[in-house]
Amino acid sequence: MNPQTEYPKVNRSVIVRDIELLRTKIRKLREQPSPSRESSDEIDVANGCDEQSRRLANLLLLERKLEAAEDLLKDVDQGTPFICRECHEPIGEERAQFALENKMYAALRLCVACAGGAKNARKKNGR
Ligand SMILES: [Zn+2]
Repeated sequence: MNPQTEYPKVNRSVIVRDIELLRTKIRKLREQPSPSRESSDEIDVANGCDEQSRRLANLLLLERKLEAAEDLLKDVDQGTPFICRECHEPIGEERAQFALENKMYAALRLCVACAGGAKNARKKNGR
C-alpha cells in the first residue's frame, strides 16, 4: 500500500472568482487617498508614512497573488498546472495541495527547490 497524495483538482470558477476579488481589492487600495503629510503634528506624519508603506506592501502582495492566480488559470487551460517555472519539473503533490487550499497561488509557480531556502535540494537534481 502506498498512500499517495494526488494533485488537487483545480476548480476553475473558484480561481476566476478569486481573480475578480483580488482585482477589486487592488483597485480599492489604489483609490484610497494618500495620507496627508501636511499635518504639523509629527506623530500624525509618522503614522501616515507607516500606513502608506503598509498599504504599498499590501498592494505588492496582492498584485503578486493576482499575477500568480492568472498564471495558474492559464496553466489550467493549457492542461499543465503545477509545473515549476524554473526547472519545469512538477512542483509536487503535497505542495500543490497545500498551496491551493490556502490560496497561495504564488507558491504554485515554483517547486520547493526553486522557491529557495533549499539550494541543496537543487544540487541533488544535478545543478
Ligand atoms: Zn523547480
